[in-house]
Amino acid sequence: MTAPRIAACPRCGTSTRLDPQNVWRPFCSERCKLIDLGDWMSGRYALPVTEDPENEPGPEHDRDADR
Ligand SMILES: [Zn+2]
Repeated sequence: MTAPRIAACPRCGTSTRLDPQNVWRPFCSERCKLIDLGDWMSGRYALPVTEDPENEPGPEHDRDADR
């Protein structure tokens, strides 16, 4: 009998089985898989990591965005 392979869900860190019975592997659930997929869809990971140091908006750049 083989022990199930356990890994942390890349999304939430929950211990997750990596066996074929877990159709959402390496995620723990459909929810985490969809959330991760959503991040990719939104282009979050597709953005270039290069930043312009002379035009850094800062964390509050949209504070006074057109309201
Ligand atoms: Zn998860």
